Amino acid sequence: MQREEGAKRIEELRELIRYHSKRYYEDDAPEIEDYQYDRLMRQLAQLEAAFPELDAPDSPTHRVGGAASSLFAPVTHAVRMESLQDAFSVEELLEFDRRIRERLPAPLYSVEPKIDGLSVSLEYENGLFVRGSTRGDGQTGEDVTANLNTVAAIPKHLPVSLPLLEVRGEVFMPHESFDRLVEWQELAGEKPAKNPRNAAAGSLRQKNPAVTAGRGLSIYCFNVQRVEGATYSSQVESLDSLSALGFSVLPFYTLCRSIEEAIAAVEDIGRRRGELSFDIDGAVIKVDDLAAREQFGSTAKFPRWAIAYKFPPEEKDTRLTAVEVQVGRTGVLTPTAVFEPVQLAGTTVSRAVLHNEDFIAEKGLSVGDTIRVRKAGDIIPEVVAVTRHEAGAEPYRLPAVCPSCGQPVAREPGEAALFCRNPACPAQVARNLVHFASRGAMDIEGLGPAMVLQLTARGLVKTPPDIYRLTAEQLAGIERMGEKSAANLTAAIDRSRQNPVWRLLFGLGIRHIGEKAAKQLEAAFESVEQMQTAPREAFAALDGFGEVMADSLAEFFARPGTAALLDELRSLGVNTRCETKETGGGALSGKTFVITGTLPTLKRSEAAALIEQHGGRVSGSVSQKTDYLLAGEAAGSKLQKAQALGVEVITEAQLSEMLG
Ligand code: NAD
Repeated sequence: MQREEGAKRIEELRELIRYHSKRYYEDDAPEIEDYQYDRLMRQLAQLEAAFPELDAPDSPTHRVGGAASSLFAPVTHAVRMESLQDAFSVEELLEFDRRIRERLPAPLYSVEPKIDGLSVSLEYENGLFVRGSTRGDGQTGEDVTANLNTVAAIPKHLPVSLPLLEVRGEVFMPHESFDRLVEWQELAGEKPAKNPRNAAAGSLRQKNPAVTAGRGLSIYCFNVQRVEGATYSSQVESLDSLSALGFSVLPFYTLCRSIEEAIAAVEDIGRRRGELSFDIDGAVIKVDDLAAREQFGSTAKFPRWAIAYKFPPEEKDTRLTAVEVQVGRTGVLTPTAVFEPVQLAGTTVSRAVLHNEDFIAEKGLSVGDTIRVRKAGDIIPEVVAVTRHEAGAEPYRLPAVCPSCGQPVAREPGEAALFCRNPACPAQVARNLVHFASRGAMDIEGLGPAMVLQLTARGLVKTPPDIYRLTAEQLAGIERMGEKSAANLTAAIDRSRQNPVWRLLFGLGIRHIGEKAAKQLEAAFESVEQMQTAPREAFAALDGFGEVMADSLAEFFARPGTAALLDELRSLGVNTRCETKETGGGALSGKTFVITGTLPTLKRSEAAALIEQHGGRVSGSVSQKTDYLLAGEAAGSKLQKAQALGVEVITEAQLSEMLG
């Protein structure tokens, strides 16, 4: 490569890496997989080595992590929090050993799992936990003491009162906590967290300690940064001592006498990877002798006495046994690969989304093929490629008719997917009803997917108005539905008649109209009737409403059948009047509160009376309608639910502030 071309590519790579670093370290929202990021970094390092005169101290290859957020007070690290040099092959590990042995002829290595979380420093003075911070750019991190105080695995007092101790560890989210979080997020209609690392970072790097507390974070400590009142001579000795002091240290580590033993230990960690209850992304080999480490020192980014072997994303070969096609609420056809079950990153997988017909054609898939699958970001299974084509098999083609209703399907301009446009298609009818009744929309408890399927299969419900015609007798006749559940469901349906209009608008599944837009419509209009007669321009004029949304609304209200549908709902007692905005009436007017736990000074009944005096409403259970959860000590499931739903959690002191 010529110098000019090299310079151009170096600049491109630096810009790309800076962008992805920010998304990862500062926003906790990466857009590409780690191995893709690592590849970009490698390319940049190779180019900088080839053109040393183009290397620059501010290049991402010499920088650690990302900038500390201004949300938190800055913490200057007394001992720099370094990154690790990474290796992707055994040759690189042998080369590392060769460099070490130039100075230290018979090194002992400690080999440890590389926990995939975020790095923190924990500072103790006279045996008390006084401060905890994130790594940030290695020099300056973020003060997250309040959040770390909620992590049970971090000792707050040590049994021995050392004058000073700073420990480095990795905060992570165990798989169990991650699964629970994703379940809540899905229930609440939120975008689920991408992987445990980002979930851990997002849970720690936000302002509300109550949110951190509910997320089930843990920590494994792996280094003594500085200590007064004790001396350690080796890594393994310091880890054992941390353990005796009550720290949660790495769950396993091996002392090795040669690089061959160390490589075997790395491979062993790789084999155990799938059985662990937390994510690791590699194994770290470290010189065990702490005095020798001092001699090796560090580069601008990482210590010379350690190296991290990164595991590639796990891939397996299996056989494609079928392609299943599902019809979504909007009529979109989604193909899913069904394959013989394989173990990947700790779980059994047997299905992966195939996106659309272009994706299938590009991979050249036929049923019976041997395919390679992996978990993208170690979470979502994906088909990588066909590794052996089944002789004589026809390439798979998506059906020309809808698998649910048999009507022809078609691709629409600008769309990669196929759509079924039959409004009476049973699959779409059922999905629309599930959406209508869902927690984020009309919030009809007990009317989930299974119940909707029972009702549609019996022909009891086809449209939203049918839900409001259901009788307790009809419901009681349904399999496994006792009288009590039938009564509960009837009551839930009945309650939903009083819902605010935005829930109805969102529940009707108008294209491009999400919850936020529905709320804006409710705020801007007096009633659904007024919306029905409004010109298209009235929608286009709303803040943030583009042409697409305005067209979609105008098309919905003009569509034959919409007026009759809304009339029917109205006559069945479903609210179509927008909430009148209260003026005055107290500082808390229009706000709904739930109270939980023991408050520092007020009894719960006193707090409730106070809220009501100022125009607020107090409810017994947390839902999407809750504006604030007033939480005291020992708050339990309501706190978890509020966090999962994104309800703001406040203390008694914050309530007092709101009341002025
Ligand atoms: P790193 O995460 O690869 O290694 C350093 C970190 O490992 C340390 O900060 C430490 O906290 C941690 N660690 C875990 N267990 C350890 C142990 N036993 N001993 C020592 N340290 C241990 O390096 P990095 O510079 O923090 O980040 C690079 C990583 O972040 C790469 O995996 C990269 O792919 C990923 N990343 C991804 C994106 C993206 O867009 N996907 C962007 C930026 C970074």
